[in-house]
Amino acid sequence: MRAAFFNGPRDIALGTRPDPSIQLPTDAVVRVVLACVCGSDLWFFRGETPKPPGTIGHEFIGVVEDIGTEVTGLAKGDLVIAPFVFGDGSCPHCLAGWPTNCTSGGSFGNNDIDGGQGEAVRVPFASSTLVPVPGTGHSEETLRSLTTLCDVMCTGHHAAKSAGVESGSVVAVVGDGAVGLSGVLASARLGASRIIVLSRTPERQNIARQFGATDVLAERGDEAIARIMELTNGTGVDAALECVGTGESMDTAFGVARPGALVGMVGAPHGVTVPIRTVMIRNVGLRGGVCPARRYIPELMTDVLEDRINPGIVFDFATNLEGIVDAYEAMDTRRATKSLLRVSSL
Ligand SMILES: [Zn+2]
Repeated sequence: MRAAFFNGPRDIALGTRPDPSIQLPTDAVVRVVLACVCGSDLWFFRGETPKPPGTIGHEFIGVVEDIGTEVTGLAKGDLVIAPFVFGDGSCPHCLAGWPTNCTSGGSFGNNDIDGGQGEAVRVPFASSTLVPVPGTGHSEETLRSLTTLCDVMCTGHHAAKSAGVESGSVVAVVGDGAVGLSGVLASARLGASRIIVLSRTPERQNIARQFGATDVLAERGDEAIARIMELTNGTGVDAALECVGTGESMDTAFGVARPGALVGMVGAPHGVTVPIRTVMIRNVGLRGGVCPARRYIPELMTDVLEDRINPGIVFDFATNLEGIVDAYEAMDTRRATKSLLRVSSL
């Protein structure tokens, strides 16, 4: 089969790899329909985090082509959503609702596990990993939204849940990448009354407004903090979503959180220090981390299928496997918020 490979920083190419097959009775083989590039893929693409050469891509939806003898709840031909991490569903962490921390788990596109940026994937622990999508004949728009549930929309939701967003909350979202935008949508879905997002890019400002942002600010750093404090009459926000992962974004999130608030952190941290004095003096807490996507997919999928949310509009660039280099470069140069790969038809 054809699959994209990481050969080194700024060196991604389409190559071939043996067709995946059932190796364990708990495996499934999935033919990839839609896949995408994650903001976190840019870290290794840019050489900012190490990654050995090999498979790439951890976000994909597809059709089950084959299942092992112990797989339950799935059948050949099912359309399925894969969370970015597979897990056994039975270890103490999975049972406690943290499937991404499964003691037997692993992520797609790493350690010789097939990546989503290829034609097919062997999925370990298929029964507890894959989520079958009910219904048939889904539109391209629906399929795009379902693809966001592999990671980005679930991660935005995790930021909002970690920050304690609930009905009536005043929320600040730091970051206008696909995760930050998803955090806006997740906050709106959870009933936030006011959602302030930091964004300077007109296209992203537009998506943020469609997702429910009430205030879009171009300020950064201390100026953003001052502006948000002004907008909230000096109180600060009930929930702050940190969706970037830099020291400045963390400082901004803590800087606008009102006493007793939580910062929900999902940006992969690079050079971040937690402002521990703010934690102490203003009783601001920090939660979040790698998103337990598998836990969130069912409820978000229902909202996609019933047309209550349309997270797929974060995809503003689409190509196919042959365009894999372009897909990365479009995001690297910020021409695209998020790149979609059309790999095969339903
Ligand atoms: Zn587990």
